[in-house]
Order: sequence, then structure tokens, then C-alpha cells
Amino acid sequence: MQGIAVSKGIGIARPFIYNQQEIIINDIEVAQEEIVYEEEKIDSAYLEAELQLNALKEKALNEIGEEEAEIFEAHLMMLKDPMLAERIKESIDQGKKAEVAVEAARQNIEKMFMAIPDPYIQGRAADINDVTRRLIQILLGIDHQSLADINEPVILIAKDLTPSDTVGLSKQVKGIITEIGSETSHAAIIAKAMGLPAMVGVKNAVQAVDNAEVIILDTVDSNIIMDPSESLLKNYHDRLEVLERERDALKALKFEKAMTTDGHVIKLYANIGSTNELPYMIENGAEGIGLLRTELIYMNSDHFPTEEEQFNIYKEVAENGGNEIIIRTLDIGGDKQLSYYDFQEEMNPFLGFRAIRLCLGKEEIFKTQLKAILRAAIYGNIKIMFPMITSMEELRQVKLILEQCKKELKTTEVAYKEDISVGIMIEVPAAVMIADMLIEEVDFFSIGTNDLCQYSLAVDRMNTNVAHLYQPLHPGVLRMIKKVIKDAHDHEKMVGMCGEMAGNPDFTPVLVGLGLDELSMSPSSIPVVKKIIRQLDYKKTRDLAKQLTNYNTVSDIQKRLEEEALKC
Ligand code: PEP
Ligand code: MG
Repeated sequence: MQGIAVSKGIGIARPFIYNQQEIIINDIEVAQEEIVYEEEKIDSAYLEAELQLNALKEKALNEIGEEEAEIFEAHLMMLKDPMLAERIKESIDQGKKAEVAVEAARQNIEKMFMAIPDPYIQGRAADINDVTRRLIQILLGIDHQSLADINEPVILIAKDLTPSDTVGLSKQVKGIITEIGSETSHAAIIAKAMGLPAMVGVKNAVQAVDNAEVIILDTVDSNIIMDPSESLLKNYHDRLEVLERERDALKALKFEKAMTTDGHVIKLYANIGSTNELPYMIENGAEGIGLLRTELIYMNSDHFPTEEEQFNIYKEVAENGGNEIIIRTLDIGGDKQLSYYDFQEEMNPFLGFRAIRLCLGKEEIFKTQLKAILRAAIYGNIKIMFPMITSMEELRQVKLILEQCKKELKTTEVAYKEDISVGIMIEVPAAVMIADMLIEEVDFFSIGTNDLCQYSLAVDRMNTNVAHLYQPLHPGVLRMIKKVIKDAHDHEKMVGMCGEMAGNPDFTPVLVGLGLDELSMSPSSIPVVKKIIRQLDYKKTRDLAKQLTNYNTVSDIQKRLEEEALKC
């Protein structure tokens, strides 16, 4: 099986096939005398749902935390909501099957909630969906698969994984294989953040592994082996042990600086999405956070997180996230959806209503987040970063809203940071072209190569068919990076990179040579990138980068970098 290895490692375990089943409900008329039977069915489904939710609440409380347990408490309350029960009963009395009645009630209540322009009320629609899905699954006898509940070592195989599937993934998952996706799809990024070997874009994986008992996922040599022989299995167990030892040796560099042999220091920061990753980033030697993907906080919730909920999270990050914490404002849309928000279908979601565009269109949601960040910023060195800025008008508009938030906080006499640093992501080619002007109105840049590559090379970052054209080493991309760095440095401002390119050790010499001040990446990539930086001579990498931006093919650039890698 062929695929794209996105996170290097070896996983050995039995396969676990994850199917988010589509539920089909047949609307068959129920005879008058069978209505009692449907009523009994719904009563026992209610009892079973209550048992399941209580068990989940208990588990969350013991294993994760109070906040997660509250989600199930909210679901229990929804289940007991008389409005839901009455609507179901009415439909059953009119001759509907229990599952049809539940689905009709769901649609009705959801519509009602979504019509109210209050994110909290709309969030309740997601609760209704969850609870009714559970009831319908019980009524139809469908087993619910939860990726958090896996309790023995497995290699997870799925057609696709949404980022919300991967949030809360059980620690027993030893590797991930998906049929869809590319190196920068968000599921891949999360796998990398968790240090899990992952292979994406593996066509027909679900069908191919169907009967296998053991799978070896080897993303070092891009191999997937089903039911290996005894000797091969032993060989792989040995390799896994060596890999783990090497990883430990790299971690020993934890307290060393990312400094070249001639004394040039690079900031090595982590990309994280939740407070759960804080210990992991520290363990890997990250000195700060170059990208807090706040959308994962929204995706992990069943409603738009309130200012207080966000404040508590950002405060925890501020206090434990190192020297500098760059919080990116909500970057939702594209492939990142929210269960409680109805995204309109778009022909090209990555070119659509996403990231800053969505925040500017939903100002109240945006302001809630900005206020939470401003308040948390007094607890640590927090900076704000706006994603996907394309024009000066957009930048000025977001800055104006930020100022309004400060004013509003001032009137309520809540403590907040007035002179917070503001930066933007450079991930749209038009922003590269006006970077010399944008930098005059911000404190720093961070280059988001995941989107910058997709937009400049016209290659969908999620599309396996064109994944071979997704080339961060394209001379056009390198020249854009070079321009952005020059524009920032000409104004004596800081410029970093937080796209996946920053964490690829093969690219480290050219990125350091181009002059980036900071590289932010999955925590698991930090030790190996640090090891390489510590072997580089800064002056030589400057010359190397200059040469490489004058090469005209990707393969020539790659070849030259491979030669460099041999020296490390
Ligand atoms: C990027 O585009 O490079 C980036 C870091 O943002 P995301 O991957 O979240 O779109
Ligand atoms: Mg991006």
C-alpha cells in the first residue's frame, strides 16, 4: 500500500477500523396496535442512554477532568428535557416509529435553536444532535465507536479523520492510516503533534486491512505490512526499540540552546492546540509557543467557548507555555468545522468564508476571543496573531476591533494588557507582495507555509491526487519566504515560520540560512531540528540559502539539501 508518511516512526498493533456510520432511518407507518410497542422501545432507549451518559461522565471525571465531565452532564439534562420527550411522544402517537419520531424532534428543535442568533443557544443544537444520535443508535442497535474509549494497542485505520475525531484520541492508538489527506491536512498535523506514526492518502486501506491480525506501520521507510512473519516482527520490534532510544537521546538536548556553531541562536517554539500538549512541548524542549491553534479549543467544545472558558485556558497557557506565547485567533472553516455551527456549503471552502473572514463576519464571536486573550495576557508574554490576512483593509479592521475590545474591557474595570504585541500570519501570496507595507502596522510576521504553498502553487493541501505537486522547496516558495524575511528585517521586526515546513529537518539548513528568527513546529520535531541547527555554521547557511534561491528546479534544490544533510 502506498501513501504519504507524515510523521516518522513505527507502530505495531492490531488494526482498528473506524467507520463513522451514516444512519439510515426508514419511515414506515406503524399500525395503531403497535404504537404501545414503539412507546416501550423509546422508554427503554431513554434508560439505556441515561446509563451510557452516566458511565461516560464518570469516566471523564476520573480520567480527564471536570470540564469534560460537564459535557455529559449537559447531555443528560438534554435527554431529560421535556420539550424533546413531548415532541417524540406526539410523533409516536401519530403512528411514527420511535427512531423516526426522535429524528423529527431533532430536526425541529435544531431548526428552532439555529434561528436564534446567540452562539450559546446554537451550541445547544449540537447537544441535541449528540443526544438524539445516541438514542437513534440505541433504537437501531448500532454500536457507537469512540476513539477515546479504545483500550488496547491498535493501529487506527479510517477513510478520513476529522480533526475532532483525533482530539481526545486514546493513548492506545499506536499509529494512524487514512485513505484521504496529505501532509498538511489537520489530522496529519495532530498525529504529528502526538508523536504518532501516520500514513495518509493510502487508497483502499480500510478494505485492504480488513482481515489482518497484526499491522506494522513503518513511516520511516513508508511500509505497511500486514500479518508479518515471526522474524520480520522481531526485526521491527528491535527497530522500534532503537528508535525509542534515539528519541530519548535527542531529548537529552532539551536544555541546550538551538545555536549554530558560530553562535547564531534560533528560537525553537511549539505548535500546540490544547493545554494537554503543554507538558509534551516542555518535555521536547520548546522554549515557547509559536502557534496556539485556538480553533481546536472551539472544536473540542459543544458550544462557542465563552470568554471565561477561553480566559481560563489562555491563562493556563500563559503561565506554563514558556518565554513567548503566540495565540492565533480562530482559524475555522476550510477543513475545520464545528459541530454546533452550520457552515454553508461552498464550492471551494479553502478559498471561502474561513479564518479571519469568518471572524470579521461574526464579530461578537471574535470579540469574545479577543477579550479573553487580552485578559490572559497579563499572566505571561502573550502575543496575538491573525490568520489569513490578505489586505491592509482587513488588518486595519481587525486592529480596530481589538482596540474596541480594550475600550470595552476598560469600562468594566477588568484587568487586561493594553500594549499587547500584534502579528499576522503570512499565508496568502498577495500578503507576501505587500509584506513591506503590512509590516509597518504589525509587530511580527509568522509564515504559514501550509496555506502559502497551497495558495501559491494552486495545490489543494487535502488532495492526494496532487500531493506530489505540493512542493515547499519550489523556487517560487523559497523566494516568497526570502522576501517576507527581508521586509520584516528591513523594519527590524521579528519573522518566524509556523507551517509544517518549519519542522522538516531536511529543510532546516535553508530556513536558518534564509534568516528566520523563529521556527515553530510539532513538539516531536523540536529535538531533531535542534540537533541539526547545532551542527550548522550560520555564515555558510546564509551562502547556501542565497545559492538555493537562484536554482531553478525543485530537484536541484533538493539534491543540494541532501548533500548538506550528509554533513550533519
Ligand atoms: C499554515 O497555514 O501554515 C498554518 C500554520 O496554519 P494551518 O495549518 O492551521 O492552516
Ligand atoms: Mg493556515
